Amino acid sequence: MTRLTVPIFVPTQAAARPWPEQIEAAAALGADMIELRADTANKDLIAAAINEVKAARRFDGKPLLAMVTIRPRWEGGLCDLGDDARAALFEHALGCGADLLDIELQAIEQSANLRHAMAGWFKEHDGSSPDGRAQLVVSAHDFSGVPVDLPQRLGRLQAVSEAAWLKVVFLARSLADAIRALELYAMHARQDARPLLSLAMGEGGVMTRLLAGKFGAPYNFATLPDAAGSAPGQPVLPVLRGTYGVQRQDAATRVFGVAGWPVGHSISPAIHNAAFGAVDFNGCYIPLPIEPAYRVFLRTMDALRACAGLNFGGCSVTIPHKDNALRYARERGLTVEAGAQAVGAANTLLFPERPRPGLCLNTDIDGIRSALAQAKPAAVAVPRAAVFGAGGAARAVVHTLKEMNWRVTVFNRTAERGAELVQAMGGFSMALESKPLQDFKPAEFGLIVNCTPVGMYPNIDASPLPEGAAIMPGHLVFDTVYNPHETLLLRQARAAGAEVIYGLDMLLGQAMEQFKSFTGMAPPMDVMRKAAETALGR
Ligand code: NAP
Repeated sequence: MTRLTVPIFVPTQAAARPWPEQIEAAAALGADMIELRADTANKDLIAAAINEVKAARRFDGKPLLAMVTIRPRWEGGLCDLGDDARAALFEHALGCGADLLDIELQAIEQSANLRHAMAGWFKEHDGSSPDGRAQLVVSAHDFSGVPVDLPQRLGRLQAVSEAAWLKVVFLARSLADAIRALELYAMHARQDARPLLSLAMGEGGVMTRLLAGKFGAPYNFATLPDAAGSAPGQPVLPVLRGTYGVQRQDAATRVFGVAGWPVGHSISPAIHNAAFGAVDFNGCYIPLPIEPAYRVFLRTMDALRACAGLNFGGCSVTIPHKDNALRYARERGLTVEAGAQAVGAANTLLFPERPRPGLCLNTDIDGIRSALAQAKPAAVAVPRAAVFGAGGAARAVVHTLKEMNWRVTVFNRTAERGAELVQAMGGFSMALESKPLQDFKPAEFGLIVNCTPVGMYPNIDASPLPEGAAIMPGHLVFDTVYNPHETLLLRQARAAGAEVIYGLDMLLGQAMEQFKSFTGMAPPMDVMRKAAETALGR
């Protein structure tokens, strides 16, 4: 099992809670291990901190492990001591009951004294202290990027015969770099039976932290909810435990995600992981931050599909990749479903296990249909719809409304883009046209749909309606924006006595269709709605 480990600096760093309180909080949240970052600690402090960890109890009564790290400046830490002085502190920590020592590969390679001392602390080819209680972790960090000699570095870690666990960490500048870290697990497993932790730092590397359990890492770092981590990209403990279920993962766990840029704010991981948990599906759904350019999307999708041991089952696709997803599907021979074809964009890619080539869908259409169905639009007096916006969401809305026999007029800030949308969806006709924003006359329409981001958090005091245009009773107003739940537009609509449709209903509708495609199971609707509402702070 992957031990969830909270790094805590002793002495406490500026602006953080005092370290004893942090240990208590980590135990209360179910941490398995504390990494005592004793970079600037003296012997007394190390002894006191180890005692504090040993005295702490998790909510289930289990004790915590204490790992001691004294990281030198040349490896990204704060310690100015030489290797001999650090060796004396490590020996002291062992005497005080430390369960694990993390010692840098470079220190072991460069210091004969440290190697000599280590030979007394840990048995060769065993990885434990003579009394079997303490163990050695040998680690290598690179804060500049993917080490050019990554396989060789792994080989050097493997050569430390006293080590029980090995740890490689480097800075990821992209998801592709993170995949390099994950691929190291398979390479290591072919060469060495000892557990490996392979992590990528930074936003690009977050997936290595979220999937550490799946790859059999012996431990994994997490921060306390109110603390800054000791490395960028470290997730918060309850999220790692709860949302991503790191300790429930195993080699068979199927991985899904949401591809976008930026994607850190997405509530899709909360929705899909809650749903996976509710139906006992062995899957994990993660954010996949991929830079906007198509060539980056192409390279990253290919790398995700090829990554040994990842079991990448597919992904949701959001801004700015919906066009890229369709292009990718066409270039890679995936089956493109009619909806995605008609809209000219996709929000779902599926990669079933071979030999099927994969599938490209647009479940936004399903989301729009189910949202409209809830509001009984057939009751609307005027069967004409005004759609604000001409981007990806507007394309899906226009396509769906046309299929439902609505007459649609597109109003967009940039009039030419509105006209382009109309051309792309079959051209100007009785059923479809575009007009300048200032020509919007509310009385001509029964349904008004906002497909612009106007009114979305944090700009919650904005409305997409042109000045002077007022909503009337009998209107049905659909805002695709779901954060906040009730936008200014919907508040205005309700105040005018109009019926409203919330963007969250569309989001949940499209997510439920994705869930069916990912798992082949019926979506647990209530669980998904509750997870979405919680993630949105409702
Ligand atoms: P997009 O492709 O970037 O298109 C955005 C559209 O909004 C463009 O037509 C743009 O006009 C217009 N726009 C942007 N800022 C504006 C402003 N300040 N004033 C007037 N018009 C403005 O984005 P998208 O993918 O269509 O997404 C649009 C919104 O739909 C998102 O923000 C999201 O809230 C919502 N959405 C919701 C769901 C859901 O499941 N509920 C799913 C997808 C999208 P120009 O052409 O003039 O730039």
